[in-house]
Amino acid sequence: MPLHPSSSPHSPAALDRNAELMARRRAALPAGLGQAHEIFVVRADNAEVWDADDRRYLDFTGGISVLNTGHRHPEVVAAVQQQLGALTHSCFQVLAYEPYVELAEALNARAPGVAQGQRWKTFFMTTGAEAMENAVKIARAATGRPGVIAFGGGFHGRTMMGLALTGKVKPYKVGFGPFPGEVWHAPFPSPAHGRSTAQCLATLEQLFKADVDPARVAAIVLEPVQGEGGFHVAPIEWVRELRALCNRHGIVLIADEVQTGAGRTGRWLACQHWFEQAGVLPDLITMAKSLAGGLPLSAVTGRTELMDAVAPGGLGGTYAGPPLACAAALAVLRIFDRERLAERADAVGQRLRRGLAPILARHPAIADLRGLGAMVAIELTQVGPHGPDLHVPDAELTARVIREAARRGLLLLSCGSDGNVIRFMVPLTAPDAQIDEGLAILATTFDALATSA
Ligand code: PMP
Repeated sequence: MPLHPSSSPHSPAALDRNAELMARRRAALPAGLGQAHEIFVVRADNAEVWDADDRRYLDFTGGISVLNTGHRHPEVVAAVQQQLGALTHSCFQVLAYEPYVELAEALNARAPGVAQGQRWKTFFMTTGAEAMENAVKIARAATGRPGVIAFGGGFHGRTMMGLALTGKVKPYKVGFGPFPGEVWHAPFPSPAHGRSTAQCLATLEQLFKADVDPARVAAIVLEPVQGEGGFHVAPIEWVRELRALCNRHGIVLIADEVQTGAGRTGRWLACQHWFEQAGVLPDLITMAKSLAGGLPLSAVTGRTELMDAVAPGGLGGTYAGPPLACAAALAVLRIFDRERLAERADAVGQRLRRGLAPILARHPAIADLRGLGAMVAIELTQVGPHGPDLHVPDAELTARVIREAARRGLLLLSCGSDGNVIRFMVPLTAPDAQIDEGLAILATTFDALATSA
């Protein structure tokens, strides 16, 4: 039973403990630390969270896509509790522990192409940004080259190299430069926005003419589906051409699967779609977010010959691949298989699309619905005399929808280079009834805003 059916949305006046905590937060923390919702969460269960005033929300943010297996999956909790009783820290480079190795073996076995003879190795860090830093380190060590090419709209983390790779200036890069050099950006295809695969490939060739000799490029880095950039799916013909180009010039192809990995797109890794559709394998794969079901863990999986290019001591970190997170990730893999979450991701994606279709039909401001598997988003634009115009993003409406949906008990997050995309990162373990409940709240939110406009 929802605590706040849409007939009685949250009243801001009722905010008590939350408001108090927000005031303390503002006084004690720097302004640069953003917060999508003015909510303090106290407890959580699968797709539901409760705030400091005991109001219930459906959480379709997943802590930015970290909770494919939901908040506090019982098997993750049990695995962490068991590990807590045995070992919490030794630093893997000082004293090793089995869960780390077992997890690396499991991820190697799940990477694409194994049945066809491809061999992989894996090591762990803590955050997605660190995984990206390390992928670049490996690519540089293996090729002896400095250059890296990433794509406009891409997001790869908040460390200095992560920011250098990130293809969105505001708010991430403002005031923080200079960033590591020898990083270039090319456009990421989006036919709906007038960026065709052919044009994007031509721009890359132009980059090789105008800016950097391909023989100086160590790596090309891409997200199979851009996350923060707005859920643009990399067209398979573009990926095929990138692979061919990397082969031609001896460039390492890095798939940043920090947001797409751990089952979100209907495969354990999104690059499995590449392999199935075009026989394309990346050389390095980074993962984080949903990998450990809510505990901090990231991974770099790569072709064995590349991964062994770094001399002993060149990789690692004090907390990298901690025992609790490895135990949690092993539980996530068991859950993934037993609950058939790859198939479930497709079903969740279809359910979201089915539920969004009538909302789209009623509200022309929703100009696009896109994604892969359960990685689904809608794009909001202004509506001109000829209908919605993808060249005129409506970030203001997007913010209002998100605010109003939260008031009604549904938590959402925006994304996109223009802040006008709403993404749905509901746990894959969420019951259908709660997915439908969230969609119903979204529908009444759009209707209410349309009436009040
Ligand atoms: N790569 C991608 C594709 C991401 O979506 C993110 C986080 N949003 C990162 C890297 C950085 O991960 P983290 O915040 O854990 O450093």
